Amino acid sequence: MPRVTSAVRPRVSTTQAAPSLSPVVGVLHTGGEFGVVALRDVEPGEVLMTIEGERVGKPSRTSVQVSERDHIDVPAAWTFEEVLARAPWRFLNHACAPTAWVRGREVVALRRMARFDAVTFDYTTTEAAMATPFVCRCGACGGREIRGFLHLEADEQRRRLPHLAPWLRARVEGPSPRVRGSRGG
Ligand SMILES: [Zn+2]
Repeated sequence: MPRVTSAVRPRVSTTQAAPSLSPVVGVLHTGGEFGVVALRDVEPGEVLMTIEGERVGKPSRTSVQVSERDHIDVPAAWTFEEVLARAPWRFLNHACAPTAWVRGREVVALRRMARFDAVTFDYTTTEAAMATPFVCRCGACGGREIRGFLHLEADEQRRRLPHLAPWLRARVEGPSPRVRGSRGG
């Protein structure tokens, strides 16, 4: 039985004001760089955090793509403390052999993690084209340039299928897969 009737207005304002602190992950600043770490043992499949923020129409250095046209970014009005508390996803680093993946708005553990293990995901599984490409220092790839899914070779795109965002999946599985602009030879 629903307890809330039209006569009783739910008090949503206090809930919205409360920071969505994650008990599972924390933001770590070390060696001049930010990163996200697990705060306790994590099992594969656990939801580590949700991607909350402002929906914007084009990618930025910090945004995460959540649909063909939409990207989530941290609202400019948020203080740094608010970003730390409400958007730890903002500090997720890229890795070519990541420990998590993005499923819708959720960041989900890919493998077992221990306390203080780095939480990372493969940016090329959500970003069609990075706003700011960079040279990867994940240690697993030998320093490749990360430019986004559309810049990957066809076999690399297929390899990402199990944890690929749905709008990028269509690019691989569709009847007319996108042909890369670069010419061989
Ligand atoms: Zn890498």
